[in-house]
Amino acid sequence: MSEFEPSHTTVFKSSLMTFLKHIAARGQRFSNAVSAPDVRPRFVYEAPGWCPICEKTVLFIARNDWFRDHLFCSDCGSIPRERALMIVLAQFYPNWRSLSIHESSPVWRGVSAKLHKECRSYVMSQYDRKIPFGSFDESGTYRSEDIENQTFNDECFDVVITQDVFEHLYRPDRAIKEISRTLRVGGAHIGTVPIVQKNAASRRRASLGESGEIIHHLEPQYHSSALGDNGVLVTIDWGYDIARYLTEQSGLVTTLYLIDDLSRGVRAEFIEVVVNQKLPPIDGI
Ligand SMILES: [Zn+2]
Repeated sequence: MSEFEPSHTTVFKSSLMTFLKHIAARGQRFSNAVSAPDVRPRFVYEAPGWCPICEKTVLFIARNDWFRDHLFCSDCGSIPRERALMIVLAQFYPNWRSLSIHESSPVWRGVSAKLHKECRSYVMSQYDRKIPFGSFDESGTYRSEDIENQTFNDECFDVVITQDVFEHLYRPDRAIKEISRTLRVGGAHIGTVPIVQKNAASRRRASLGESGEIIHHLEPQYHSSALGDNGVLVTIDWGYDIARYLTEQSGLVTTLYLIDDLSRGVRAEFIEVVVNQKLPPIDGI
C-alpha cells in the first residue's frame, strides 16, 4: 500500500457567476485577438482587480496563459497562489500582524515581503547547510533550519507558512510533526502545495536511501529556489489525499481551500491552500 492514503477532502470553490459578473463590470479585456504589428507589450490578460497583498486596486497582467507563474500583480509582483494564501491567512487570522509567524523557505516577494514588513514577530528560515541550524545568516535576514528537524521551541508560533515546500520534502511526515510541535493551540500551518495528482493518489518521485543517496522513482523534476542554486528536486506529486496524510501524521485538522476569483487575481492551476489547524482537545471524548 502507498504511504499516501485516499482521502475525503473538503474543497471550497467560490461562485463562478459572482466573479464573472464582477470582472464583466470592471470591463476587463483579453488581448488574444491582437494581430497587427505592435511595439507595445502583448498581454494575454490585463485587467484591474483588488490585490489581497497590496490591499488596493491594481492591474493584473499576464504575458503567458499559464497563469500559475505568469498572472502578476503589477504592483507587488505576486502570483495567484500567493494571493490565495494571503486571502486564507487574513480570513483565519485577521490579526496576523500581531502574531508570531514562522515562514519556511520564503520567496522574496508577495506574501513573504508583506509579512517581513508588516508582521511584528515574523521569522523566516531557509534550509542552508552552510549555516549551523538555529543560527542566522550574516545579514540576520533568515535563520537556517531543517523543516524536518527544527531547533525552535515547542508551541512558539501562532502561524507557520510554507509556499510550495511540501513537494520537495523527503520526509513530509517529519516536517508536519515538527510544524505541529512548534504551533500553539489555536494556531495553524497555512501553505500552498501543487496538487498535481488531483483525485489520483499521491506518488513518490524521489526518496533517500540508507546512506542518504537520492533514489529517483520517476524522471527528476526541479523547481527554482529562493537561494538561487540549481533548483530543488520534486520528491512527491501530491494528490488530494495530502489532507488525510497530514492529519494522520500530525493530529492537525487539515482542510484544502481552492479559490477561483479573478477579481482578486486568483485563477490558475494548482493553487490550493492547505490549512492545518492545531485545535484544543475535546473534553470528555
Ligand atoms: Zn499586489
